[in-house]
Amino acid sequence: MSFEVVVVGGGFTGMAAAAALSQRGARLTVLEAAQSTPPQFRGELIHPKGVRALDVLGLKQALFEGGGVAVHGFAVTPDANQEAVVLPYADTAGPGLGIDHPLMVLTMRREVGKRPGVSVSTGARAVDFVREGERIAGVKRADGTVHRADLVVVADGRQSKLRPLLGLQPEVKLLSHTVAVAVEGALLPWGMNGHVFLGAPGPILAYPYAPRKIRFCIDVPVGLAKGKAAFVELLETKYAPFVPQPLRDALVKALREEPFEAVATHSISTDACAAPGVVLVGDAGGCAHPLTASGMTNALNDVLSLAEVVGEQGPSDAALEEYQRRRYDFIRMRELFTDALYEVFRAHDPGSKSLQAGVFRYWRSSERSRQASMDILSGEDVRTSRFVAEYSRVFGLSALDVLASLKRRAPLKDTTLQMRSLVKTGFGRLEAAMGRTARKVVDRYRLKLHRVPGEQPSA
Ligand SMILES: Cc1cc2nc3c(=O)[nH]c(=O)nc-3n(C[C@H](O)[C@H](O)[C@H](O)COP(=O)(O)OP(=O)(O)OC[C@H]3O[C@@H](n4cnc5c(N)ncnc54)[C@H](O)[C@@H]3O)c2cc1C
Repeated sequence: MSFEVVVVGGGFTGMAAAAALSQRGARLTVLEAAQSTPPQFRGELIHPKGVRALDVLGLKQALFEGGGVAVHGFAVTPDANQEAVVLPYADTAGPGLGIDHPLMVLTMRREVGKRPGVSVSTGARAVDFVREGERIAGVKRADGTVHRADLVVVADGRQSKLRPLLGLQPEVKLLSHTVAVAVEGALLPWGMNGHVFLGAPGPILAYPYAPRKIRFCIDVPVGLAKGKAAFVELLETKYAPFVPQPLRDALVKALREEPFEAVATHSISTDACAAPGVVLVGDAGGCAHPLTASGMTNALNDVLSLAEVVGEQGPSDAALEEYQRRRYDFIRMRELFTDALYEVFRAHDPGSKSLQAGVFRYWRSSERSRQASMDILSGEDVRTSRFVAEYSRVFGLSALDVLASLKRRAPLKDTTLQMRSLVKTGFGRLEAAMGRTARKVVDRYRLKLHRVPGEQPSA
């Protein structure tokens, strides 16, 4: 089936969408605002589910050959003095991928741009939609060029300027900042795994993103530092001690001598992501804290779902509504899981500290528990029921941990306070998150295509 598509945004998701839709016979124009790759730091770690999707899109080989490295799972360390727990990806899942983000996007542009029916224009900013009644029928560029299309795919990232023109107002929460630091020539203690070091004011993620290159993504709560010197001091004194030697020295040296970026992290949640003639994909449709390295795996799920439905039915309203349903089936539990894990890893109150102790006790208890958590983390298992079952197990172990303090003759008053905090954080969080998610899960059956309002001022 042949149809015209305009993709707004030639970043990771836009190029993946172009690859997926061109496989289904679409003729595509990709409009990318920047002249080269996006200036801000973006994700570099893709779970096996995402890598398998890249294989389906015919991009996996080019990304590995172009400088990507295989990643085999995660190693999580609760504190400077404790052993890590290693959570491997399932053997059957295949490897994850670590790769420099600009290199990845440029490789995708080169590979997808060669495909029949695909044209990629850089320096081409979309500023408004072409409307035909309630239907979106194309986009207008800043230079006045108009591109008409049967389907507009909005992939302009989490700060999407086109999303509000559709009348979509997401829930946006500023969570923290991520400081991204590159370290060359050092080795990670647990080899080609993503590493999470806990104990500092925010979790530290480190992973290989090229041969002998490691990226640190350090989570800094809002307001803890301003300006480069303050960040360096904070990271050296409050974070680096939780990174084992000799990697710690390499991190401190890079912080002092190399440039690094601090990027705001948000959770952005949308209620609808499709309207007649237009869909949101990737971060334009929402995002969560980067701790679970999920954004690109989610984006690949978006584009494969979209290509499947429009490949079968064309870009009809029914097809776009089906895309919306499939997207939220996948995304909602991921949002819930990421929110919960970030709170537990940050452990900023006694309740979440107890939950963190429960998580490690659970992971150390069996291979099954590690596998179940990893399947959720990496998007292999997105059932809400599974998440709730796993969370309940962790909660039970956390409560046992608190009660065990009585055996160590902790004062009853302290234990009671600790238990109260655990119940408040554990249940309160779950209840709030479940309430929100349950509403959205129910809504997804009711959710019709969004109705686009009339003309808006240009972006
Ligand atoms: C600090 C941090 C760490 C992360 N780590 C990971 C990780 O390890 N693993 C993971 O899976 N995800 C991670 N993510 C998330 C991941 O980066 C995003 O999910 C991914 O980049 C989304 O791609 P995108 O193409 O949707 O958006 P973007 O990467 O933001 O790309 C949007 C593109 O649209 C272009 N554009 C914008 N406006 C217009 C316009 N009007 N017209 C034309 N073009 C336009 C931009 O120039 C850009 O090229 C991380 C995110 C952050 C912030």
